[in-house]
Amino acid sequence: MSIEQELEQFMSGLKKRNPHEEEFHQAVEEVATSVLPWYMDHEAYRKAQILERVTEPDRIVTFRVCWETDEGDVRANRAWRVQFNHSLGPYKGGLRFHPSVTQSILKFLGFEQIFKNSLTGLPMGGAKGGSNFNPKGKSEREVMRFCQSMMTELHRHIGEDVDVPAGDIGVGGREISYLFGQYMRLENRWSGVLTGKGLSFGGSAVRTEATGYGCVYFCEHMLAQHGEEIAGKKVVISGSGNVALYAAEKAIEKGTKVVTLSDSSGFVHVTDGLTEQQLHFVKELKENRRGRISELADEFGSVKFYPKARPWGVDCDVALPCATQNEMDASDAIELARSGCLAVCEGANMPLTADAAKVLADHKVLHAPGKASNAGGVAVSGLEQSQNAMRISWSREEVDERLRSIIANIHARCVEYGHQQGRVNYVDGANIAGFKKVADAMLAYGVV
Ligand code: GLU
Repeated sequence: MSIEQELEQFMSGLKKRNPHEEEFHQAVEEVATSVLPWYMDHEAYRKAQILERVTEPDRIVTFRVCWETDEGDVRANRAWRVQFNHSLGPYKGGLRFHPSVTQSILKFLGFEQIFKNSLTGLPMGGAKGGSNFNPKGKSEREVMRFCQSMMTELHRHIGEDVDVPAGDIGVGGREISYLFGQYMRLENRWSGVLTGKGLSFGGSAVRTEATGYGCVYFCEHMLAQHGEEIAGKKVVISGSGNVALYAAEKAIEKGTKVVTLSDSSGFVHVTDGLTEQQLHFVKELKENRRGRISELADEFGSVKFYPKARPWGVDCDVALPCATQNEMDASDAIELARSGCLAVCEGANMPLTADAAKVLADHKVLHAPGKASNAGGVAVSGLEQSQNAMRISWSREEVDERLRSIIANIHARCVEYGHQQGRVNYVDGANIAGFKKVADAMLAYGVV
C-alpha cells in the first residue's frame, strides 16, 4: 500500500470511531501525514499499533457544572477533562472556558498537547479540559462560583502526580486562583496541582509571559536558520490575550515593528509600530477592564480600527497568529504569501486550517506549528511543577534562561527531523520528533 493509501485508510477508520469531531480529525491528519512515511519504516511501532493507540484518549471525564448567577438563577454548563496520554509524565494541559468548547475541540487540543509536551523534554503527558461556560460579561462572583463548582467535580480526577491543569483561553490568573482555592478547601493540603498560580503562592516567574516570549524566541531561531534576523522585521500579530501581548512585548524588545493586534470584534493597524505606551494601554485594557481592542484606536489617533476583519491582509515579514484555532484560512495565507511574508510562527493552537498550511508550504513560507512554537507556556508550567516539588522558587532570570534553552532545543529537534533540501519543514520536524519519544515509551511499556 502507498503512504497515501495508508493515510486514507487510517483516517477513514479514525473518522468512523470519532464521528463529527472535525477539529480532532484535522489535528490527527496533520500528525499522521508527517509521521506515516517515517512510521512505515519502523515495523515495531506498526506491530504495536502505536498510531492507533496514541489517537485514542486514555479517558475523557465529562460532567455538569451548576452555578448561581448574581440574580439567584441557576445555570448548568458542560465540562470535560480529556486525559489523553501519560506515557511521558503526569497528564498536563490547560483548561479553556469559551462557548465554542466541545469534546472535539478538547480532543484536538489534548492530542496536540501530547507532542508539544514531549518536545519540551520535560516529563509531562498530554491533556486538556474546559467548559462551554462563557466568562465574558460575567461578574467576579459569578466567575468565582463557576470555578468553585467546576473544581468540586474536577478535584477527584487530578493531583500533582496524576494530572496538572493550567490556564488557556478564558482561564487566566484569576480563574486559576479560584480553582486552586477550592482544591485546597476540598483536599485540605497544599500541592502543585495547578500551574499558572500567583507568584506569592507557588507560581513561577515568567509563566504569564512564557507562551508569547517562547513564540518570539522560536521565530528568531527559525529566521536565523534561514539566514535572516528578527530585528527590523514587520510583524503582524492576531489576538490580544496573554500570548499575543507578550509576543508583542518581546518582538518590540527584539527591534521589530508590531503593526497589528486583534480581538473577536476586529483588528487594529498601527502603521508605525506599536509603542510601549500603547502596549501598556492594551495590557491594562485587556487584563483589568476586559475591554475591546477598538479602544486603542479611540485613545491614539494614529491607530486605525477595522471592525469584523482579520489582520492577514496587512503587509508583513512575519505573522504570529496568537488568537485561536482555524483563524487563518487559505485566502488569508495567499494574501500573506503575496505580501512577501517569510515566516508564520503559531502562538495559538492550530490557528491555520489545513488548506492555509498547504498554501504556506507551496509558497515556501516558513511555518512553525504551535506544538513547537507555543510550547514555551507549558514548558514554564513544567518548571513551575519542578519548583513546587522542590519547595523553591527560581528568579526571573533563571526561568527565562531555562525557557530559552528549552526553545532552542525544540528548534534543534525540528531541524533534525524536518530537514528537507536545505530548508526545514517545521511541521514534519515537530510531529516526528514529538511522536518518536512518546512512541518509544509506549513500546517500552508493552501492551498497557
Ligand atoms: N494552555 C497552554 C497550552 O496550550 C498551557 C498548558 C499548561 O501550561 O499546562 O500549551
